[in-house]
Amino acid sequence: MKIFVLCILYLLLTACSTVPHRIPSSKQKRLLVFGKSNRPAHMHIVPGAITHLVRHFQQNGFEAVGSQELISLTKESLSSFDGIVFVDVSNGILNDEHKNAVEEFVSQRKGLLLIHASIAAGNDWRWLKEMIGTSFLDHPPIQQAKVSLTTNDQHTVIRLPDVWSQSDEWYNFTSKIGDDFSILATVDESSYLGGKMGNHPITWSRKDLKQKVWFTAMGHEESLYAEYEAPFMKHILNAALWATSSFEQQGTTD
Ligand SMILES: [Zn+2]
Repeated sequence: MKIFVLCILYLLLTACSTVPHRIPSSKQKRLLVFGKSNRPAHMHIVPGAITHLVRHFQQNGFEAVGSQELISLTKESLSSFDGIVFVDVSNGILNDEHKNAVEEFVSQRKGLLLIHASIAAGNDWRWLKEMIGTSFLDHPPIQQAKVSLTTNDQHTVIRLPDVWSQSDEWYNFTSKIGDDFSILATVDESSYLGGKMGNHPITWSRKDLKQKVWFTAMGHEESLYAEYEAPFMKHILNAALWATSSFEQQGTTD
């Protein structure tokens, strides 16, 4: 009888130890950090931003690779990655083959993070515009503003304060963000001049996890990428964990 009880206890303990951790692991996850801009405002930012993001991801357990070469965006090249991070990818950079490769990547339930001016890639790419849900309108001069998290989602909030201050180019958009998206952070329009959105989303992701697409309008200045302990870089790190984590850990909308 004693042995029977011990066996039951052992089975219970082993079952408990196999419950997945709440925070997903970055181990063995491969990220491609791709940046390419044809705009003078961003061309000089891209190389440094890629270098910092790759280093930041590597320091946090990811296998990260940086690239400004379009050859990285073929189906074959992308097949070894779990997530893609776009840094300031301009309108007109990608051809149909690259676009198809990225669309197929996302259809395989792999994550796509889009940073700052990458929203412009949706100007000539209907699929991407739909994934982001709006387009760039304009922005006031670079200035300090307050960012607030607007979700309790575990992937978004880890390591971050509820509110932080940051100097950036605060984008306005051509339309409101629809119900297909989870708003993850907003910028407080009373904390700077030139906001036109009212309740102003600044980071959001698609609700339907069949398309793990995440966008932040923040990230204009190269110096933001160099501060690994500041909220902006932690915000992106959290998104990379979200983008590369399995659906079993996140729940599914199926
Ligand atoms: Zn910018």
